[in-house]
Amino acid sequence: MLSINCKEAGDPNCSHTITGNTEQELFENAKKYAMETHGMTAQEFEEDAKKMKKSIKN
Ligand SMILES: [Zn+2]
Repeated sequence: MLSINCKEAGDPNCSHTITGNTEQELFENAKKYAMETHGMTAQEFEEDAKKMKKSIKN
């Protein structure tokens, strides 16, 4: 199970953790979450996703 934390991904106000079985699944879950909860656009997410890769935990 892979996971990523909002705080580590760059959001100082949110400590929500997103999980996924694969990196692709994790990013799909994170994208859905970011758009629904943080009001991010798909484009904004794609830009942040590059930075987020460093924060993924196994
Ligand atoms: Zn969050």
